[in-house]
Amino acid sequence: MAFSTSRKAQITLLLLLGILLLGGFLATSLASYYASRESIRHHIVDTELPLTSDNIYSEIQKDLIRPTQIASMMSRDTFLRDWALAGEHDPEPITRYLREIQDHYGTFTSFFISERTRTYYQAKGVLKQVREDEPRDAWYFRVRSMDEPYEISVDPDMANADRLTFFINFKVFDYQQRFIGVAGVGLTVDAVVKLVDDYQRRYDRSIFFTDRSGLLVLTGAEGGPMGSRRGQALNTIDGLENLLFEVPRPESGNFSYREGGRAHFLNVRYIPELDWYLFVDKHEEGALAGIRHSLYLNLLICVLISFAVLVLVYLAMRRYQRRIAALATTDSLTDLPNRRGFDILAAQALQEAQRDSSQLCAVLLDLDNFKLINDEHGHLAGDEVLRGFASQLRDRLRQADILCRWGGEEFALLLKNTDRHAAFELAEKLRQHCAQQRYAVAGESLQISVSLGLSQWHPGETLHSLLARADRALYRAKQGGRNRVCAATQDEAS
Ligand code: GH3
Ligand code: MG
Ligand code: MG
Repeated sequence: MAFSTSRKAQITLLLLLGILLLGGFLATSLASYYASRESIRHHIVDTELPLTSDNIYSEIQKDLIRPTQIASMMSRDTFLRDWALAGEHDPEPITRYLREIQDHYGTFTSFFISERTRTYYQAKGVLKQVREDEPRDAWYFRVRSMDEPYEISVDPDMANADRLTFFINFKVFDYQQRFIGVAGVGLTVDAVVKLVDDYQRRYDRSIFFTDRSGLLVLTGAEGGPMGSRRGQALNTIDGLENLLFEVPRPESGNFSYREGGRAHFLNVRYIPELDWYLFVDKHEEGALAGIRHSLYLNLLICVLISFAVLVLVYLAMRRYQRRIAALATTDSLTDLPNRRGFDILAAQALQEAQRDSSQLCAVLLDLDNFKLINDEHGHLAGDEVLRGFASQLRDRLRQADILCRWGGEEFALLLKNTDRHAAFELAEKLRQHCAQQRYAVAGESLQISVSLGLSQWHPGETLHSLLARADRALYRAKQGGRNRVCAATQDEAS
């Protein structure tokens, strides 16, 4: 009962300790994980994405400034205007002029479209006639009717296998400010695409451009987010539907959305030169992988440490419990089992004897006139004699015999597998040995004798009854003059 209670208390203690350790570790690990995650998120939103967006924007601006100046110069060029006003008789000089521009300034293409003849001149000669009913020529009529002096557009270039090209289209006027055509240059978007690819690869983010209506107009070489392609609408891209519910048309700012269980952060910026929106999109998975990895490592270490602590505490508890149990059942003076220890051992011995139908005898020993030793030589000398007697006794017994200090100067002995006759012989030997023994205490040699009472166990008999009979035999031994062995008779009732 006491054992199971203490076991329950132990388990409860270990459980509590485990909960405290794991709970504490878990709380600190998670708190630092969430704090790091928050700071990474802020870093992405406040620094990383805007910086990428700034860099790409300034790269685009840098790419567009020089070509814009060249196209502006072309629109004011007196040769070009004079040639057009003179009737465009020979395409050769204008072709040469356009070729010079293209070669010298390293543009991808250069062109002039005459309003009078609607002829499209470029560096290789006459390309075609522009027509109002041709969708691919719509740009010309758009430029023609706009108020601004120029526009920058991105279109496939017919003259160059439809490669995606930035066109800088300037209106050309004669000397009386009458519109006579459109001149300009084109440059491939390869450089921008390369830049986008570079950023995407290096910083694990997705970069793309849309027009005002949310159609993808430019992506890296490998496409846009989640494998989308140029010309695709934003609302057909996985995960962006929810965002588009809040922001149906592109607008500048920071946004976030979820896709496939991952959080995405989005920085959107309007690029006025192109009338486009630049999207820089980063999911936090990659950025969080590092801290998630250290969280798992942390948790593993926590579990291991908690486990190790629990095992150590358990082992320490078990050791102390055994020590306490041993102390509780051992006599401190003689190191023999005390009465409590004897009760446990004797109960087991009786059970065995009952089970195996074996013989068992009990002997009670009481030192004779021990009071005199104390009185004449002092209590400490008495203790010494008790210790010496106990150790002599122990040495003369078998390992299986159960010996205990019954109390004071009395000892109890259970002899397993021993009949009355053998027990009597042993008791007699013990008595004789004691009588011959001298105990050297404080320079004096002390002598002592012992009286013994013996009883043989009857099957079914209790320990109490067995010892009571031995006690009566001991009493008879004392009565008979001490220093002798008396045995309880076979039929003596308890
Ligand atoms: P008897 O032959 O009738 O047994 O006489 P006795 O003096 O041995 O018996 P009694 O029971 O009158 O006295 C026992 C003495 O044992 C009294 C007590 O002070 C002493 N004693 C009991 N325990 C200890 C102990 O631990 N140390 C010492 N030194 N003396 C003890
Ligand atoms: Mg006594
Ligand atoms: Mg005595």
